[in-house]
Amino acid sequence: MKALVDPRKCTACGVCEGVCPVEAITVTETIAEVSDACTLCGLCVDACEFGALSLPEAGARPVEDLESYRGVWVFAEWRSGVVHPVSRELLGAGRKLADKRGVELAAVLLGHRIEAAAAELLDYGPDVVYVVDHPELARFTDETYAASLVELARRHKPEILLAGATTMGRSFIPRVAALLQTGLTADCTDLDIGENGLLLQTRPAFGGNVMATIVCPNRRPQMATVRPRVMKPAVDRRNGRVEAVTLPERCFEHRVEVLQVIAETDETAKLSEAEVIVTGGRGLQKREHFRMVEELARLLKGAVGASRSVVEEGWIGPSHQVGQTGQTVAPSLYMAIGVSGAIQHIVGMQGSRIIVAVNKDPEAPIFDVATYGVVGDLFQFVPAFIRKVKEERGE
Ligand SMILES: Cc1cc2nc3c(=O)[nH]c(=O)nc-3n(C[C@H](O)[C@H](O)[C@H](O)COP(=O)(O)OP(=O)(O)OC[C@H]3O[C@@H](n4cnc5c(N)ncnc54)[C@H](O)[C@@H]3O)c2cc1C
Repeated sequence: MKALVDPRKCTACGVCEGVCPVEAITVTETIAEVSDACTLCGLCVDACEFGALSLPEAGARPVEDLESYRGVWVFAEWRSGVVHPVSRELLGAGRKLADKRGVELAAVLLGHRIEAAAAELLDYGPDVVYVVDHPELARFTDETYAASLVELARRHKPEILLAGATTMGRSFIPRVAALLQTGLTADCTDLDIGENGLLLQTRPAFGGNVMATIVCPNRRPQMATVRPRVMKPAVDRRNGRVEAVTLPERCFEHRVEVLQVIAETDETAKLSEAEVIVTGGRGLQKREHFRMVEELARLLKGAVGASRSVVEEGWIGPSHQVGQTGQTVAPSLYMAIGVSGAIQHIVGMQGSRIIVAVNKDPEAPIFDVATYGVVGDLFQFVPAFIRKVKEERGE
């Protein structure tokens, strides 16, 4: 099954050849020809201004042989040679799913000179770690990572494919789902196997007011992303194996060149890994007052968080936002200063071990999730608290 070319409309202009991500189109002097490598992604159809390309009717397409897909896969992310914590968390979740399905759990590692990361991954319980080591994978690009993961998935046919809802995962996993022509549920907070063997993918919907459980019954793999710190990290080590995989060179071709990687220097932006977070809300009234929150965070050796209102006011950058459209965090201590506790904020921080809320409104919803609540004026409480901490430390 492949895209169809109408010879009466095709002008052999070559645009379709340029947009085809799998190089399935060759343009001769008179017409575009589509090979069997076509994945029916439809990019050529959208790009053709003459309407010469079309996809076969849905009914004419072959029904997927769902039973031929087996196994649970986790895309393993790493940075500077170290496995990202979300990969360990996904392997923990993946192990439960794989055991329920009675199938293998695999981790997929893409990069260059990544032997140490592959060895580390074995500690987190996969049955196999597929490793693609290539110089072009040393730096992340959407094109190379997507093409490599797609090629692997086409060869091995996993039934479930999980990835972190990190900057990297959010960037290229939708492309993988599109190329594999399957569904993707982003930002899941729970994963399970239903009675019919399908992956149950639960995530907040309608502004966080309901939890939706989504299934992907007709396509494979069933794909989901999960935010860091939502799942419990894997604990079991077993005698897994590492399998080096060689992919065709076309997987490493890319149109985008990474010229420079600028490391995140703002330590406070590393919210998802912080043990202490002090978050400021609109109750602080203006940017200058937000400095109190920054000072308290510094004193407690923590990171600075922000509600979306504060980010929208421009008091601090979006990398500090906690909540549904920001980051999910679960520190040991979360202090919410002048934050009302809208549901969209709460879904991002309710996993914190101790929550301290400071708000002058005793009815503020933040108190519903707070371990300790201070009903009072933050402009009195925070300076006094800062003074007390300094006093205790003899500063
Ligand atoms: C689709 C969608 C996604 C969203 N995603 C996010 C998200 O990711 N993160 C997020 O945070 N929000 C998100 N929001 C916005 C969210 O609904 C709220 O509007 C926002 O969280 C409110 O921010 P806030 O608590 O700082 O401000 P407010 O709701 O204005 O609360 C300010 C609080 O400060 C208190 N206060 C005022 N003065 C003082 C004082 N002197 N002392 C003590 N307390 C005081 C008030 O009593 C009040 O409770 C989203 C909304 C939508 C629709």
